[in-house]
Parts: sequence; structure tokens; C-alpha cells
Amino acid sequence: MNKELLKEQAYINGQWIAADTTFEVDNPFDNGVIASVTDCTVEHAQQAINAASDAFKTWSKTTSKERSKFLLSWNDLIIEHADDLAELLTIEQGKPLQEAKNEILYGASYIKWFAEEALRINGDLLPSPDGEKQIQIHKLPVGVVGIITPWNFPQAMIARKVAPALAAGCTVVIKPASETPLSALAMAELADQAGIPAGVINVVPSTASSDIGKALTSSPVVRKISFTGSTAVGKTLMAQAADNVQKVTMELGGNAPFIVFDDANIDSAIEGLMASKFRNSGQTCVCANRIFVHETLYEEFIKRLGNKVSELTLGNGLTEDVQITALINQKGIDKVLRLIDQATESGAEILVGGSPSKEFKNIINPTVLSKVNKDMDIACEEIFGPVIALIPFSDDDEVIAAANNISAGLASYAYTEDRHRINRLIQELEYGMVGINTGKLSNETAPFGGVKESGMGREGSKYGISDYLDIKYACIK
Ligand code: NAP
Repeated sequence: MNKELLKEQAYINGQWIAADTTFEVDNPFDNGVIASVTDCTVEHAQQAINAASDAFKTWSKTTSKERSKFLLSWNDLIIEHADDLAELLTIEQGKPLQEAKNEILYGASYIKWFAEEALRINGDLLPSPDGEKQIQIHKLPVGVVGIITPWNFPQAMIARKVAPALAAGCTVVIKPASETPLSALAMAELADQAGIPAGVINVVPSTASSDIGKALTSSPVVRKISFTGSTAVGKTLMAQAADNVQKVTMELGGNAPFIVFDDANIDSAIEGLMASKFRNSGQTCVCANRIFVHETLYEEFIKRLGNKVSELTLGNGLTEDVQITALINQKGIDKVLRLIDQATESGAEILVGGSPSKEFKNIINPTVLSKVNKDMDIACEEIFGPVIALIPFSDDDEVIAAANNISAGLASYAYTEDRHRINRLIQELEYGMVGINTGKLSNETAPFGGVKESGMGREGSKYGISDYLDIKYACIK
């Protein structure tokens, strides 16, 4: 791997800065230490906010064409270094190398997309009701943005936020997850090489996440918080941001229903389910979480599904063709095992897996549970592990009500060939995203985001940049 991308210091005002203390980043596969990263304090966060505030004065005045060029140069460097970035991502996060590479390219696709959207930040000229005035609409960058990201997509969650922010003319202070700060720092190194001016992007790795969060939400110059992570932390940050009336984008937890109707193509539903469920070993916010299967095809479905799941390959993410890798940490492993235990104690049956791997200490065997019901913890919480929880159902009203009977509203999936039913599902599923006959939803052209407790705001698409723009109206007589 290219060692120049392995950065262990904070990136503030275009400089690599060391704090007095460091924290260790380990490889989830074998818990081997891979880096000792500088542990930023509130003072570092304040330095970063000041740098971003100073840089905003000039960055916000650049032309969209200039900002677009910087973003394209950054994108090119990320693509050029995609293999190195992918390796770094796998060793700090654990996911299979091919998935890591896909994440790098997926993240880069947002940078390219928003480089192009920067050119289309258009105002408006509106007709005045009395015919005596000119009504102008201007779109202006909101200011300094505080960005806080999770460990499950250490590169893409940053790219999805930083790209529209920079395109709009904002500057940013990023607090990456302390499990996975290395991808964020490598991205900063490439931004530096791309010539993005000092202070426009700042990265403050820290284990003092609550303190850094408070520094960002209480600063009068930080005008927006963009957060991806758990619903609980999102609520805390929203409450803090309210004091300062900051804008917020919240990409929070999901609990996706995956509904297989009686007219579904079983093989294609299983393929979609495997793709949605086992990506990142089940640790994604859009992972299928509750699998509703119509009772007429339930037996056939579980037979074919069980065979597929038993064939999955386990191991180190760096080993070729491995599909299921280590979960991020012991807390994550304990949670998944607790959910399996609670479900089986309440009547669920293990068809495949159900236990930790004997060969690899931090991997849970891919698992299929049947006879799950909607009241079990495993159906009410995000599993965040390689476990399929199957719930039989008999009619459309019942399954739509069950799918919606939850506080989350991020992704949902359904397999059916019936046009009327598809229209009804699109109307009635209370989710920000609905996948019909597909288990893969996300790309840069589409608005990613949730409703209800899964958050607010959208990332990607032509809508994604508006979260980083304020509207100013001028009335001229
Ligand atoms: P998390 O515990 O909420 O942490 C996310 C980030 O918030 C990390 O950087 C964390 O720092 C920081 N943080 C924790 N407590 C904080 C506080 N009090 N104030 C400020 N920052 C704080 O979530 P996670 O476990 O990393 O990620 C998994 C969750 O993210 C899941 O619920 C998943 O569904 C959700 N997610 C949602 C999306 C989406 O687009 N909707 C995408 C990916 C993930 P430390 O790491 O230092 O604790």
C-alpha cells in the first residue's frame, strides 16, 4: 500500500497536526493495531472551525467553475489511488476488498456528480404581483459545515457530504468515526494534492466525540451539521443544534422491510436479498432487516435461500473472494448474538448458522432464522450483522401495516410483478426509498435519505446540493 496515504495526524488549515495523545486503530479481523492516530481535543476542533471560517471568506467567492475543477481533480486522484484506498479501508473497517473498492468508486461518483452540479446552482427571476418590482432569488452557501460520520462507510459517507458542501461554496470540519479515521485522513491528503485550498477541508479525528459534537453545535460560525450515524446520536445532535438554530442533515438508522409477494420471482428475490443483506456483513443502514415472505412460497423460499447462505465464504477481507468478514467490534458482535438468542428463546428457529465462527474469532456465521415475529427484538432493532430474519405473511394489508409499524423509514424493498400492487407500495410504504424487484438502491443520481426517525435531508441527486444552500430574496423597485 502507498504509505503516503496512511496519515495519523489531524488535518487542520492545510497542515498535519499532532495532538498530545493518540488512540489506536485496529483491524477488526485480528485486532492487530494498524495506526496510532492523533486524538484531537476541543481546542483542535476550535482551530479547525476558525480555519474553515477564514477559508470560507475566499472559497465562497470562487466561481462554480473553479470549485468544479478542484472537485474533479480530487475525484481523479481518488480514482488513481482507488486500490490503495480500498486496502486501507479494508484493514480499518474489515469489509471485503472488492466491496471496499466499490465504496471508493461509489464515493468518488458523488464528487464527480457534485462537481457537475456546482455549475448548475441557478437563481431565479420571478414576476412581481404589482409589476413594479423585480424579485430576485439568490442561492448562497450556508457557511461552515460540521460533518460527523460513521464507521460502516468510512470513505463514502464523507464524500457524499463534502462534495455537495464544497460545490455549494461551503467549507467543512469533519469528525470521522474513531473506529475508522484513516480513510478520512487519506481523503484529506488527496484533497491537499488536488490543490483544494488550506482550511476548506479540515479533519479532526477524536475519541472525545461528544465534546467535538458540542464544539461544532455551539459554534456561531458553524451554520450546518451534517450527520450520518445512529438515531440516538442524531437526536442528541439535533437538540444541541437547535440552541444555535443550525441547519441539519440527518442520515440515521434504518430497519428495512423486504417483502416477497406470492407472484415474485423467487430466484431474483433471493439474489436481491443476498445483495442487500450481506453487503458489509450486514452492517449497512439499508440492509434488509425484516424479511416478509408470503406463506404460499415460504417453504420453497427458505429451502433455496438456506442453500445459498450456506455457500457464503468467510474470512479476512483482504483474501480474494471472501464474502463475510469480521464485524466492526465486540459490541457489534455481542448485539447480534443477543438478538439471535432472544429470537430463538421466543420461538424462532435457526435454519443456518446462528453462532460465532469457530475458525475466525470476530466473524458471525451467516444465519437464517425462520418463524420470527414482528414483536421480537430482532424485528424491532437494526440487526447490523449477517442474519436473515424471516416472517411469513398472508395478505397485502397486513404486510404493509407491519412494514410501516416502526419508527424508522429509510429503505424498503418489495418483489412482485403486479403493477397495481407496485403503485400501491410506492404510495403506502412510509420510507424515503422503495426498491421494487431490486436489492440495490443507492447511486449518485438518486436522492438518498429517510423519513420518520431515519432523518431529514437528501444526499446525492440534483436535490442534494440544496441542503448546503440558503435562499436569499431581493426585492428591487
Ligand atoms: P454512531 O454511534 O451514532 O456514531 C456515528 C458518529 O457519531 C461517529 O463519528 C461517532 O464518533 C459520533 N458520535 C458518537 N456520539 C456522539 C455525540 N454524542 N456527539 C457527537 N458525535 C458523536 O453510529 P455508528 O455506530 O458509527 O454507525 C452506525 C449507525 O449509522 C447505524 O444506525 C446506521 O444505520 C447508521 N447509518 C446511517 C446511514 C444513512 O445514510 N442513513 C448510513 C450509514 C450508517 P465515535 O466513533 O468517536 O464514537
